Amino acid sequence: MITETTRFAEDVSALLKTLGVAAKTYTGGTLAVTSPVTGEVIANVVETSAADAKKAIDAAHKAFLDWRVIPAPKRGELVRIFGEELRAHKAELGKLVSIEVGKVTSEGLGEVQEMIDICDFAVGLSRQLYGLTIATERSSHRMMETWQPLGVVGIISAFNFPVAVWAWNAALALVCGDSIVWKPSEKSPLTGLATHALFERALKRYVDEGYDAPAGLSALIIGAREIGEVLVDHEKVALISATGSTAMGRAVGPKLAARFARSILELGGNNAAIVAPTADLDLTLRGVAFAAMGTAGQRCTTLRRLFVHDSVYDTLVPRLKKAYASVKIGNPMEDGTLVGPLIDKLAFDGFEKALSEAKAAGGVVTGGERVTVSGDNSYYVRPAIVEMAKHEGPVLRETFAPILYVLRYSDVKDAIAMQNDVGAGLSSSIFTNDIREAELFMSAAGSDCGIANVNIGTSGAEIGGAFGGEKETGGGRESGSDAWRAYMRRTTNTINFGSTLPLAQGVVFDV
Ligand code: NAD
Repeated sequence: MITETTRFAEDVSALLKTLGVAAKTYTGGTLAVTSPVTGEVIANVVETSAADAKKAIDAAHKAFLDWRVIPAPKRGELVRIFGEELRAHKAELGKLVSIEVGKVTSEGLGEVQEMIDICDFAVGLSRQLYGLTIATERSSHRMMETWQPLGVVGIISAFNFPVAVWAWNAALALVCGDSIVWKPSEKSPLTGLATHALFERALKRYVDEGYDAPAGLSALIIGAREIGEVLVDHEKVALISATGSTAMGRAVGPKLAARFARSILELGGNNAAIVAPTADLDLTLRGVAFAAMGTAGQRCTTLRRLFVHDSVYDTLVPRLKKAYASVKIGNPMEDGTLVGPLIDKLAFDGFEKALSEAKAAGGVVTGGERVTVSGDNSYYVRPAIVEMAKHEGPVLRETFAPILYVLRYSDVKDAIAMQNDVGAGLSSSIFTNDIREAELFMSAAGSDCGIANVNIGTSGAEIGGAFGGEKETGGGRESGSDAWRAYMRRTTNTINFGSTLPLAQGVVFDV
C-alpha cells in the first residue's frame, strides 16, 4: 500500500550512498527526478553542460587510443570485475530501478540480472573475437579477416530499460576495445549515476589488480535531448547506439548517415501475437497476459495486438478479460503487484487518447480506467483490452501503455499479413501446436520482425540472442549472437609469403 507518508527521497539517498554516488551529483541540480510510484520529486540531478560533454567525448577518444591495444582478454577482466560489483549490489540497484521507473520488484532485479548476464557473455566473448581465413586465388598467399576496435561508442538509452540497455552495449564495446559515453534518459538519471559509480568501483579494482585503464574510458553525460545531440554530432563518436522512440531514430539516423558514422537504432515496436485453433489456451493466457500487461505495457516488446482465430475467440477473450480484471495494480514494490505505474502524465495522456480514438473507430474497451494509488501526481491504470473489428487507427501505432487490441481472423495467412502491416518490426509470436503454421510463421513468408517466437509471448528476450527489429524499429542488433561485430571494424588482410607477385583476376602489369 502507498500511504500519504510513503516517501522515497530518503530511501533514494541511502541507496545512492551505498552504491557510491556522491550527493553533490543529485542535489541542487536542474533536472528534477520524479518517482512514478508516488509522483514525488526524489532528486535534483546536476546536468552536464554541452562544453563538458564535448570534453568527456574528447577524453574518451584519447582513452580509446590506449584501450584498443590492450589484449581483449585483459579488457574482459574489467567487465568480469564489473559483473561482480553488479552481483554484490543487485538488490540496491534493482530497488532503485523500481523507485525511479516504477518496475515491480522482480523486474527491477531482473533488469540487473540482465546486466550480469551480458557481463558474463562479454567476458567469454573477449577470447572469441575471431575472423575468418578465406581461400585465395593466388598461390603462396593467405587472406584473412581481422576485427579491430572501432572508436568511441555513444550510448543513448530510454527510460524503460534504464540500465540494462547500457550494459548490453557497454559490456560488448569494452571487450571490443572501444571507449564509451552514455547519455541515459532524462527520466532515469539516478540509475545511470548508480550504475556508473559501480563501474568506476570496478575500474579502481582493475587498476589495483595491476591492469592499465586509461582515464576517460567511460563517461556519463546527463541531460535531455540537447545533450544527446552533442553526442550524435561529435565527429569523434564512431558509433551511436540509440534506444528510444521511432521519432528519436528519425532525428538521429540522418545526422549519423550525413557524417558516415555507424548507428545501432533500437526503436519502437507494435508487437503482435497470433492465437491459432490448436493453441494451448492455458499457456497462451499466461503468455499474453505477461507480454501485454507486464511493465505496465512499457516495454519495447510489449504485446499490443492480438489476432485470435474465430474458433477459439469466444473461449480465450473472456478468460483474458477475467485476468485483466483481477490483476493487482499498485505499489510495484509490494508483494503480489503485477502492474505498476505509467512513467508520467504524458504517458497517461497518450493512453487516454488512444482509447478514445479506438472507441471512435468502433472499438469495445474493457478496463482502461485510472486507478488511484498515490494521489494526483502518479498515474496508474487498469490495462485495457480493446476489441476491434478492423486493423486501423490507433492499432497501427505504438502507444507506450498497456493497451491490447484484439481482432478475429479465420485464415492464418491473413493474420500474418495484418501482423506485418504496421511500420514497426520488433517482436512477434504465434501460439500453435500445428507445426506447419509455426514453420510458416518463422519462414520467409512469415513474420517480418527481428523476433519471431512460437508458444511464448513477445517480451522477455534473453541476452544470448541478437536483439532488435526491422523497418521503423531501426534495424539494429545488440546483445548476443554476433552483435559484437557492430562495435568493431573489419579489415581484410592478404599476405604474400612467396617470392613472386601474382595479381588478382590474372591482370598482367610487368614493369
Ligand atoms: P525517447 O525517444 O523519448 O527517448 C530516448 C532517448 O533518446 C532519451 O535519452 C532522449 O533524451 C534521447 N533523445 C530523444 N531525442 C533525441 C535526439 N534528437 N538526439 C539525441 N537524443 C535524443 O524514448 P522513451 O520515451 O525514453 O522510451 C520509450 C521508447 O523507446 C518506446 O518507443 C520504446 O518502444 C522504445 N524502446 C525501444 C527499445 C528497443 O530495443 N527497440 C528498447 C527500449 C525502448
